[in-house]
Amino acid sequence: MWNLQNTYACLNPGLFAHQAPTPVTEPHWVLTNPALAESLGLDPAALNSDELLAVCAGNALPPNSEPLAQAYAGHQFGNFTTLGDGRAVLLGEQLTPDGARIDIQLKGSGPTPFSRRGDGRATLSAMLREFIISEAMHGLGIATTRSLAVVASGEPVYRQQAEPGAVLVRTAASHLRVGTFEYAIRQGGAERVRELADYCIARHYPDCQQAEQPYLALLDAVIQRQAQLIAQWMQVGFIHGVMNTDNMSLCGESIDFGPCAFMDDYAANTVFSSIDQQGRYAYGNQPAIGQWNLARFAESLLPLLAEDQAVAINLAQDALGAYVEYYQQAWVQGMGRKLGLSDATEADRPLIEDWLTLLAQEKADFTNSFRALAGDAASLTELPPQPLFEKAAFTQWKQRWHARLAEQALDRAAAVALMQAHNPQVIARNHQVEHALKAASQFGDLQPCEQLLSHLSQPFICKPGMADYCRPPRPDERVQATFCGT
Ligand code: AMP
Ligand code: MG
Repeated sequence: MWNLQNTYACLNPGLFAHQAPTPVTEPHWVLTNPALAESLGLDPAALNSDELLAVCAGNALPPNSEPLAQAYAGHQFGNFTTLGDGRAVLLGEQLTPDGARIDIQLKGSGPTPFSRRGDGRATLSAMLREFIISEAMHGLGIATTRSLAVVASGEPVYRQQAEPGAVLVRTAASHLRVGTFEYAIRQGGAERVRELADYCIARHYPDCQQAEQPYLALLDAVIQRQAQLIAQWMQVGFIHGVMNTDNMSLCGESIDFGPCAFMDDYAANTVFSSIDQQGRYAYGNQPAIGQWNLARFAESLLPLLAEDQAVAINLAQDALGAYVEYYQQAWVQGMGRKLGLSDATEADRPLIEDWLTLLAQEKADFTNSFRALAGDAASLTELPPQPLFEKAAFTQWKQRWHARLAEQALDRAAAVALMQAHNPQVIARNHQVEHALKAASQFGDLQPCEQLLSHLSQPFICKPGMADYCRPPRPDERVQATFCGT
């Protein structure tokens, strides 16, 4: 059952444009997400119905929808630009049975006033990629927008060549971005930013209302969530690829999966995105870029922090300074859990970093090497015959690690369980993703996508048939660059 509200449409009209989706000629279902439908309060069986298909394709509006395209700006690769939903519309906010308010957005739904020279459409392949990666993130327990369905439009879109077009139905706790605030301050000054900040607090950070300085509390809360999110990305080897400020969500969800990918062998300078020539958004740069983006958020909030600009800047700088602590704490604790430590502190940083250095030196697979350690701790499996595990440096490191494991209060079985719960068996390896996308968009074969999704939904447990998904790419399978392919 649809249960839509439109609180965003009640904000200042300068923040959006009323915009209905543009209908498509021959919609048909490609992928659906019954579990997500259920959590939204929609009937999963409706994911076969023509009625819901028409809504997901943008051919009909659900009851009570006031569709709109959101205005925003953003720093793209460091440069400021005015943007907005150029190919997406927000249908409304679904009130779910458990009381959450979730944005329902169509992506690839036709032109809007913010389309600039774009066609407002999306390729099937790019929307399937977003479906797969967002559901992979969810399976890993990382906050993310999600994907309810991909509907093929039956119409071609023209990129380097003609490709099948599609619409993605995306859900999010909201689509407020750092770039939304950057837009608001330039478009309507302090008054507009205050309206948006109040909206953001009410929707995502209600505790800040009670704070002595609610807007400073908001800044701090956003910084904290973002630090935790990026630490989680780092722990699973996720590379977002386009960490522009318009692609950073204020509620702390991962959003806008373009040329993103998971790392195979560990290297901090890994970049997949073909549009990121300088490596600005390389794996190892993500924590620093997060802080840079948050500084843009803080700038937009300045007039709300204090009347005196110098005072406001000081407050913002202090808040931004805390990012490093939040991040480092989240990183050490998270990496510690991957090594079976329930209580890792800064004192464990050398142990963690020395392990990562070994991985880098041996170009070892990030995911599988951690998983092999879990097997070693459990004494269930011999360490696999990889060069890494045969090195004297590894043997020495392993002694330090075992000694540290023995020191903690947690017993060995619990430490192993901790490792198994924080080290996925399966990640969305780029070669597997590309293979699945190719099968779907070139041959109409959805089985590889569905199989991959089924493993990604429970990435921490052993399942029959998963071996091939755990395997790093052979040299000939290696994906060197991921094109935006939007
Ligand atoms: P992205 O790189 O996907 O985060 O998109 C950056 C901006 O470009 C956003 O404002 C998008 O709405 C817009 N955009 C991307 N592709 C298209 C398209 N095909 N048509 C219109 N706008 C687009
Ligand atoms: Mg974007």
